[in-house]
Amino acid sequence: MLDRRKFLRLSAISSAAALVGRSFAAHRSPFATPAANGTPIVISTWDFGKEANAAAWEILKANGSALDAVEAGARVPEADPTNQSVGLGGRPDRDGHVTLDACIMDALGRCGSVAALEHVVHAVSVARMVMERTPHVMLAGEGALQFALENGFAKENLLTEQSRAEWQEWLKTEKYEPVRNIENALPGGAPNHDTIGILALDAAGDLGGACTTSGMAYKLHGRVGDSPIIGAGLFVDNEVGAATSTGVGEEVMRIVGSHTVVELMRQGHSPEEACRAAVERIVRRDAAAAKAVQVGFLALGRDGSYGAYALQDGFTFAVKSGATEQIIPVKHHF
Ligand code: ASP
Repeated sequence: MLDRRKFLRLSAISSAAALVGRSFAAHRSPFATPAANGTPIVISTWDFGKEANAAAWEILKANGSALDAVEAGARVPEADPTNQSVGLGGRPDRDGHVTLDACIMDALGRCGSVAALEHVVHAVSVARMVMERTPHVMLAGEGALQFALENGFAKENLLTEQSRAEWQEWLKTEKYEPVRNIENALPGGAPNHDTIGILALDAAGDLGGACTTSGMAYKLHGRVGDSPIIGAGLFVDNEVGAATSTGVGEEVMRIVGSHTVVELMRQGHSPEEACRAAVERIVRRDAAAAKAVQVGFLALGRDGSYGAYALQDGFTFAVKSGATEQIIPVKHHF
């Protein structure tokens, strides 16, 4: 019988960084056709997506895979201690734990995910390793940490002094409840968001996507959002397109948002129209609840078309393709 533990450890690497830049050429999708104008493209949620896109672009411009590109892009905010919504420096849960949610999906529909992962900066790379080195899609909590440590990821303290101080302040002033994840909701107007969702189309016409976050600030311990849920926070279908989400994960999960966006694109909607229809579905379910929260969807078609739509004002996304580099404000429902 196959030694399961050995199987899960196979090809253990000494450094998570070794994942970046690995060639994926042997795993091209049967659906791949060269991108419409031959130029790859990467798009990411929020303005911090700009730096992520730059890292992804280094890979795309060298004819690297969309999968490598989105992983490299997602690792940028994960490693930034000043970004308090992703990876290192993320705001903790109600009990002071920084817990990360992340997932990744490729052109073949392969996917991996981690939920409520503590102590590991690059949750997206652990998610990729779940995808590539296990028979599973998702690992959670202690098991995800154990898997990461067994596979060469370092155990680190993710709670920075700044995030700790703000959390302690919140404990004094707030009701002991998780904060709903709306724009500028934290004391002092500090923004309480957000996930990076990153989608890319490579020169070979393959799509890839990744999503990584520390989730809702001061959430209940154990709360998992949409970001590691394939179909909710991220979905990639190489025949159609890819979508990702940001904002209150509970609302996104209720409509399996990213999958909904991709299916609407399959029916002929443009990326923006599909994102809008998904947002409107959230509004139809409970308009009063929808008014109080932010959700944004971002989508990329397999022809390189892209678009986004949000519940509220304030959502932006970053685009990089060739010499084009833009931060685009997103249309919104309310
Ligand atoms: N969607 C993430 C979550 O609900 C967080 C965010 O995008 O702000 O965990």
